[in-house]
Amino acid sequence: MFDCEIINGVVVTSAGRQRASIAVHDGHIAAISPTPLGGAARVIDAADLVVLPGMVDQHVHFMDPGDTTREDFPHGSAAAAVGGITTVIEHTHSHPVLTASDLKAKAAYLADRSVVDFGLAAHIFPETIAQVPALWAEGAALCKVFTCVTHGVPALQSDDLLRCFRILAQVGARALVHCEDDAITADNEERLHAALRTDYGVIVEWRSWEAELVAVNSVALLARLTGAEITIAHASQPEVISLAARERQLGAHISVETCPQYLTLAAADVVEHGPTRKCTPPPRDPPAQAKLWDLLAHDAIDLISTDHAPSTLAQKQHGTIWECHFGLPGVETTLPILLDAASVGKLTLEQIAQRYSEMPARLLGLWPRKGALVPGADADLVLVDPTARYALQDANILSKAGWTPYAGRQITGRPVMTMVRGTVVAEHGAIRADVGTGRWVRRAPASA
Ligand SMILES: [Zn+2]
Repeated sequence: MFDCEIINGVVVTSAGRQRASIAVHDGHIAAISPTPLGGAARVIDAADLVVLPGMVDQHVHFMDPGDTTREDFPHGSAAAAVGGITTVIEHTHSHPVLTASDLKAKAAYLADRSVVDFGLAAHIFPETIAQVPALWAEGAALCKVFTCVTHGVPALQSDDLLRCFRILAQVGARALVHCEDDAITADNEERLHAALRTDYGVIVEWRSWEAELVAVNSVALLARLTGAEITIAHASQPEVISLAARERQLGAHISVETCPQYLTLAAADVVEHGPTRKCTPPPRDPPAQAKLWDLLAHDAIDLISTDHAPSTLAQKQHGTIWECHFGLPGVETTLPILLDAASVGKLTLEQIAQRYSEMPARLLGLWPRKGALVPGADADLVLVDPTARYALQDANILSKAGWTPYAGRQITGRPVMTMVRGTVVAEHGAIRADVGTGRWVRRAPASA
């Protein structure tokens, strides 16, 4: 007797696809069978639907505790649930986790505030590098490091990075590194201010492509020199991937994430729309975008995340282009954008499962509990209608942002049901579970 059985769906994982029945019991996948097993308390007919492992989004900002006028966990995690995400890894710049006791306190505070499962990343500041071992032992999902002063977060310069990466390597901890060179962005900023520039073009020139590549180059080299496990955050251009690949070939433990804004927006959108396309690094030129799709299709980009960092439209329009918040909302739109790409053959459903579920789960030490559809795994999955056609709309956005940079975009492929540990948390764009269904997920203890 099972709690639930999902029948008639096409089950897709990185390994391929098959029509199969998934039996769920006690929050876990109990069995996967080519024919229905029967005897379940609830039967979900997934005829004409695809069943994917729930997405694992390792880069979101729910700002709770923090600036909860921009986002909070109940809204952000609800948005994630309707977007087919079953686990998020969250960190908030304005209210950073810097110590193991910060981490414990935040996890306790969030015990009844999330719809989906969540891991928590810690911030590493120059003066808190010594906290890495304690944070990791307490179950931090990632250590977030900046190479440039951004969002009020201090930068780690090369000497700090070297010290930090050595400690990461010693304890087997992983850092997610925001790569923009501090000296180059500061110089760009000074020059643009001196020219009294306030047009929307300043974002692209301030957060220049050279600044990103110089920082990636140093971080990738330092990853190799120290043996630290590093993920390059939000690659905006293809050369990030080649720089990382070069060091990986020489032995570095390095991976790269990209985000939908770099696959679907371009610098011209930032110049035209300003605040509502302001994120850093910014989207680049259409050829860079095309090359990123090509790299994804050829499995050369390790993983996809959202970098969900919302503000309301009123907040976005507050102040000059220099002053308004960085960041875009996106947990609800990332999977739809990828499904749409799959509908036109830009990548496969198997690749979506691999890059947005399995790989992040593996790199976070959560696989196969998360990111896998196998007996014993958490019953985290998303049912998708691969042929549904619709337009993304601000009115459907559950994030506190209340808008999406992709409004009006025609999409083929829609998440229709999301299940977290056997509980249906979202169905047809609406929340079906209590806030508090989501639990804190700690990384499995390092094998070392
Ligand atoms: Zn971010």
